[in-house]
Amino acid sequence: MRVCRHIIGVFLCYVLAKGAGAYAAAPPSSEGTISYRLKPIWGNTPYLEITLRVPEVQNPCLQMPVWCPGDYHVQNFAQYVSRLRAEDGYGHALAIKRLDENTWQVQTNVAEDVVISYRVPQEPPGIFCENVQIRPDQVFVSGTAAFLYVVGEKECPTRLEVDAPKGWQVIVPLTPEQTAESVVYSAEDYDALTDSPILIAAPADLLIQQFVVDGIVHRVIFFDHPQEVTEPQTLTKTLQRIVQAEGEMMGGLPYSQYIFYFDVDGRGGGLEHRNSARLVYLPEETLTDFAAFAAHEFFHLWNVKRIRPKVLGPFDYVHPPHTRSLWFVEGVTDYFAWLSILRAGLITPQQFLAHWRRAIQSYMANPARLQVSAEQASWHVWDAGNSEGYEGLSYYDKGALIGLCLDLELRYVTHNTRSLADVMRLLLRRYAPPHAGYTEEELRNAINEVAASDLSDFYNRLIQTTEEMPFGACLAHAGLDADCEPIPGAAEEAIALRDRWLKGR
Ligand SMILES: [Zn+2]
Repeated sequence: MRVCRHIIGVFLCYVLAKGAGAYAAAPPSSEGTISYRLKPIWGNTPYLEITLRVPEVQNPCLQMPVWCPGDYHVQNFAQYVSRLRAEDGYGHALAIKRLDENTWQVQTNVAEDVVISYRVPQEPPGIFCENVQIRPDQVFVSGTAAFLYVVGEKECPTRLEVDAPKGWQVIVPLTPEQTAESVVYSAEDYDALTDSPILIAAPADLLIQQFVVDGIVHRVIFFDHPQEVTEPQTLTKTLQRIVQAEGEMMGGLPYSQYIFYFDVDGRGGGLEHRNSARLVYLPEETLTDFAAFAAHEFFHLWNVKRIRPKVLGPFDYVHPPHTRSLWFVEGVTDYFAWLSILRAGLITPQQFLAHWRRAIQSYMANPARLQVSAEQASWHVWDAGNSEGYEGLSYYDKGALIGLCLDLELRYVTHNTRSLADVMRLLLRRYAPPHAGYTEEELRNAINEVAASDLSDFYNRLIQTTEEMPFGACLAHAGLDADCEPIPGAAEEAIALRDRWLKGR
């Protein structure tokens, strides 16, 4: 068990408390597990009843996230918390003081076990995902929208118990543990708990598939309108090929279970998690669109969930973290999504190149490219509130094209021996947990290291400026013109590079 009284958290609570002119800080004390119990209640106004047991604390501060990782806009989940109560281990009520919009403090005399309970109702969805959705036949919960955390205790192990109606299934990518009365799930800390979407539904309202890659079970859950899925086996087979392709590209699968949640005809888009992803599935979408979307969310299990900017984990849930690297987090993920569905044989090289032709044309038709750089679009996303970019420039769109240019440049300067995937594997080894994430400088350095030469000027031009992107020069490395069409009489080296890019590694 890890020690779970963190001086920084205690200090923060102290500052908050002093700022409110009220309570003294809790001293560092023992270690322990924080237990959450979640129970959906149906009635005129459905809600979740959440109970939180915190061992051995004094004057604990409770906070509700302001934002949800992956969805870069402010949602202020504290606004939904009601009927917040606290008791000591003997059932005596404890006073609670609200310190600010997101923070409450429970008053205890000594360090003791505290039981906290509260309600959250159905909540509106975020941009990419449902938050709390309670329907007669199904409940979906995104952790940041539902779970309070104890300031200074976010790194404590947590346990989750779900009180579901009899016969319903609970689907969550956490390790289950059967107790005498119920199933309890354990998560290493609050980040892991909230990174695990919870779906509760009757088996008749679920369509469940599964496949195995590298001995690991991957579950595919269609919910909401599962009867609208006409070819679940085709979709599942597609996912299996994506998992194989991306796993091979990244040197193996770093988890013991994975869940694809597909909200059929649902709201929002896709949201990544370390061992799962929740995506909307529209029955009318093409298999290529399905594959590219799933490949994007799946690749996030590396790019952002394990390979991440320093500020994106462990998370500050109250102060939205600013990073200049969302073009890498989102755009480069999209580049690898398309590369992996090519590798998986789900699209042809011609379709792959046609995708980039359209992407370049669309980017070149956007006047914002001359006004906003990739890092500005990343940094100012919180001002825009759209989780996509700033002032008309999408870090998805430009970032994917940066991925294209970087990959071709790396292949070129390394004489067709290394690629952007080598950068990803280097970043994974060097910056994934338990290491801290990367800084902007470390990201650039990793690219230079794989290139074995200094690409800083090239990199800076793509990331920091609004200069036109060097599509013609980069595609020429692969014997292609700016429309992604083969150049007649291209050099042998360029054709070899193109072959390896489109068919090889
Ligand atoms: Zn994404």
